[in-house]
Amino acid sequence: MSGRSDHGHDHDHDHGHDHDHRHDDDTITFRVRALERIATEKGLVDPKALEALIETYEHRVGPRNGARVVAKAWTDPAYRELLLRDATTAIASMGYVGRQSEHLVALENSPRVHNMVVCTLCSCYPWAVLGLPPVWYKSAPYRSRAVSDPRGVLREFGVDLPQEVEVRVWDSTAEIRYLVIPERPAGTERLGEAELAALVTRDHMIGTAR
Ligand code: FE
Repeated sequence: MSGRSDHGHDHDHDHGHDHDHRHDDDTITFRVRALERIATEKGLVDPKALEALIETYEHRVGPRNGARVVAKAWTDPAYRELLLRDATTAIASMGYVGRQSEHLVALENSPRVHNMVVCTLCSCYPWAVLGLPPVWYKSAPYRSRAVSDPRGVLREFGVDLPQEVEVRVWDSTAEIRYLVIPERPAGTERLGEAELAALVTRDHMIGTAR
């Protein structure tokens, strides 16, 4: 399993990578299922506990970490400055370190700029701040159309950007993972960090929501 997780984009992406990735995904799924079955049969793993763990990583702990980073950036100018200059250090200072998050870059949205993140080659993603990537992030249509038609993709996510807002699409790699810092909503001046963090979703931080 670890071999693919650390894939590092060192394989040839110039041709046929869609097919190769799908094949790899199938192989991984098969191997994971086999391992899970053996571990369950031997009583090493409780399938319910495993599901709870995945659920947590996918929907709770992961994106909540990123949301706390965003909320801190909204409320602490010095932290925001550090985050934009050196996101890896800023995020690690909050205790969020780990796989696929060694070199992070924060991208700040503004009234004139909207940032959106994709991995055109596979599914590189900042796990430490966002958890596991959603299925659509790994899908071939998102990976190709985020680049060829970002405004169209955003419309499908319910985001209709005015022409005067520039869309910047960032292609993740094994070396660099991106975190979008959405704009702080108007009327939230009285909210504390925890309340602000509750407003921030995973999709805000990928850039498919605004
Ligand atoms: Fe990738």
